[in-house]
Amino acid sequence: MSDYPELNLLIGGEKLGRSGRGTMDVINPATEEVIAALPMASKEDLDKALGHAACGFKEWRRTPADKREAILRKGASMIRERAKDIGAMLTREQGKPLSEATGEVVYCAMLLEFYAGECKRLYGRTLVRPAGERVEVRYEPIGPVAGFSAWNFPALNVMRKIGGPLAAGCSVIVKPSEETPAAGLAIVQCLLDAGVPGDACQVVFGVPDDVSRHLLGSSIIRKVTFTGSTAVGKHLSKLAAEDLKRTTMELGGHGPVLVFSDADIDKAVKVMAANKYRNAGQVCVSPTRFLVQEDVFEPFREGFVERAKALKVGNGFDDDVKMGPMASERGPEGIQSKIVDAKAKGAKVLTGGERIGNQGFYHQPTVLSEVPIDAEIMNEEPFGPVAIINPMKGYDDMVEEANRLPYGLAAYAWTNDPKIRMKLAEEVEAGMIAINAGSVSAADAPFGGVQWSGDGLEDGAEGVLSCMVSKTVHEGS
Ligand code: NAD
Repeated sequence: MSDYPELNLLIGGEKLGRSGRGTMDVINPATEEVIAALPMASKEDLDKALGHAACGFKEWRRTPADKREAILRKGASMIRERAKDIGAMLTREQGKPLSEATGEVVYCAMLLEFYAGECKRLYGRTLVRPAGERVEVRYEPIGPVAGFSAWNFPALNVMRKIGGPLAAGCSVIVKPSEETPAAGLAIVQCLLDAGVPGDACQVVFGVPDDVSRHLLGSSIIRKVTFTGSTAVGKHLSKLAAEDLKRTTMELGGHGPVLVFSDADIDKAVKVMAANKYRNAGQVCVSPTRFLVQEDVFEPFREGFVERAKALKVGNGFDDDVKMGPMASERGPEGIQSKIVDAKAKGAKVLTGGERIGNQGFYHQPTVLSEVPIDAEIMNEEPFGPVAIINPMKGYDDMVEEANRLPYGLAAYAWTNDPKIRMKLAEEVEAGMIAINAGSVSAADAPFGGVQWSGDGLEDGAEGVLSCMVSKTVHEGS
């Protein structure tokens, strides 16, 4: 494929290809064709990367903040220049529509620009003491970071893994998903071309559990950052705990959407249906459980179903396609088993409910209604194009249901009542809540969840601080 590149590892600034290494096939989810062979790092490669990361940390932490800022800004402008090409790679390997893929790459540039600015905002503080004494709180980079990212945002997840560490002055080894390797690799290449030392930002691929055990087993790595499932997040947290490495865990969610009877229903339907089917629902902050007050249940449900039916599903490269295939065979298979379970327990399928065709990992945009609380899909993240719309009595049972699960990443609410809005902001257990709005992420705002949705933050000033340690300096005369 002309728009899919040759793949490599990036270790110490060197591109290392397939020669002498095992490989893994990369599959186009729209066609199921093999589009590339990905080289897998050997143990020797990983040891080499660790050695470089230790050297890269020494060099990058001493690079003056304004120079680090200038390099990261240059990297961002290179990402913008290459956004169309990287977007095409991303659609090829992951499936999302080309406009969404290109938008994701441009968002990486925006995030990096924010992080670049943070290089100069890493302030410490001086405490009040009597004359002749001084106590200073300094912030210093934590050390080499290992980042593991998921396939749902092949470019953005990688940027989230490297942006904070690099702004803080850390070196980083990132392992993008083996299923979607090219976009993240291309993002890192922009940074190297802009002047980030090859020792300070490296890319490896391999058998995920082998790579993470190897990197976390090294005392060189001081922090681990992961995006993916709660199960793997818990596993990596345990490995990190053995050496007291810091963690940032960006895990799953089960986004509740509370729709009150005084809300602008047309707007709520329009915004939330677009949000639900973005990236075929494979988004950690995807809205999933729509909890709709009884007196607006019918219009909300009808409007939502109409929009789901009208969505054009197809190859992400085709014009007007709004939803591509799911990223891998696991996607439609997992959704199907949850739909079968929900139907057996009494849920109604208002639209969709089936796979599409027999080539590519396509699934129909689906709306389930009146789904009982014991259905699997009410308890486990569907991570696919399925909306659950259930009628609710009022504020108390809506908030109780929103808080029922141990997840707490993104929540959404639609109401024009200022008192309800204030109570929701206080009472919904989530890392982020959008009220009368569709998005919970912004480059300058912290992104992350509570409980099983993870710990630690990316983006915003917090995304950089999470890669730093404080040192308190007590001085006498
Ligand atoms: P997963 O957690 O198994 O894999 C996610 C990513 O983590 C993959 O790219 C994989 O390469 C990597 N990974 C897996 N095991 C690893 C290990 N031991 N060490 C290092 N990296 C490892 O998830 P999945 O099977 O791809 O998807 C299953 C569920 O995970 C989804 O249904 C969803 O709930 C969740 N998920 C969440 C996000 C998110 O954005 N938070 C992203 C992807 C998947």
